[in-house]
Amino acid sequence: MLTLAIVVPCYNEQEILPQTAQRLAKKVNDLQSAGLISAKSTIVFIDDGSKDKTWELIAKYHQENPQAFSGIKLSKNRGHQNALLCGLLTVKDLYDAALSIDADLQDDIDAIDGMIRQYSSGCEIVYGVRSNRASDSLFKKATAHFFYKLMSILGVQTIYNHADFRLMGRRALNALAEYGEVNLFLRGIIPLLGYKTGVEYYARAKRTAGQSKYPLHKMLNFALEGITSLSVKPIRFITLLGLLLLLVSITMIIWSIYRHFNGHTIAGWASLAVSLWAIGGLIIFSIGIVGEYIGKIYLETKHRPRYAIEEFLHKN
Ligand code: UDP
Ligand code: MG
Repeated sequence: MLTLAIVVPCYNEQEILPQTAQRLAKKVNDLQSAGLISAKSTIVFIDDGSKDKTWELIAKYHQENPQAFSGIKLSKNRGHQNALLCGLLTVKDLYDAALSIDADLQDDIDAIDGMIRQYSSGCEIVYGVRSNRASDSLFKKATAHFFYKLMSILGVQTIYNHADFRLMGRRALNALAEYGEVNLFLRGIIPLLGYKTGVEYYARAKRTAGQSKYPLHKMLNFALEGITSLSVKPIRFITLLGLLLLLVSITMIIWSIYRHFNGHTIAGWASLAVSLWAIGGLIIFSIGIVGEYIGKIYLETKHRPRYAIEEFLHKN
């Protein structure tokens, strides 16, 4: 029977963690009674360097019920993606499959049953996909839509409306472990693994306690990360743009020489000034994009570890 690890990254989640732990434990129990997962299955909380009582809570749950709850404490805050990766890579040799879910339970835990069924019927990766975004603000909906569109234009395969709620079998986890990038964007990497995949639809709820850890600037950062770590199209776009501008200026030169010999002197420097600024702006923008990639290369070449574990509370 399937031994499952439910992997939950947590950053300052003390308000919602008691509720999450209780609901997930009940889910694990129900799944065990239904004969879908084995008694060795567990919930693994990863404390991503929280500053509140998150780790104390996790340690308490583990103490009270070591079979149901495991905990990993990271040495410092590494961000959602790294915390998640740490959880997945830690459990991959201990369990048959790992299911990742956010600590705030915005993802519907009742979708887990269906995800396990799909896994059992042969899907190595099962994506949890939001069937509606009614709980999100108009702004979040619009920016998310724009982001998915942009990613697809840039040639990065992502699953529309899928966040990090997903089930992965051991083979997929082992394949994921081979991806050593420091700038991690899991949603873009998982589709690259291949394997048979399935999709489970669910409705996303509102966060019931605690604050979102993704303010606007972090969301933008995350989006930029996704683009620059998975697509080189922006660089190619710049090269083409530069070529195009060059052609335009050559045409302008030819045109003005032609006009000059026909007795027209070129008047007005306003247009000149405007184009100077426009082109200056474009150049700086382009250098910025190239710089983004160089920065990435710089960071990747160091091969720094993506996380460090301080403590691992685990029974099996
Ligand atoms: N998270 C984390 N490290 C961070 C930020 C967030 O482990 O530095 C966790 C957080 O505890 C939650 C998940 O990542 O379980 C998603 O965060 P959140 O719900 O705040 O994001 P949102 O749903 O608002 O996009
Ligand atoms: Mg959330």
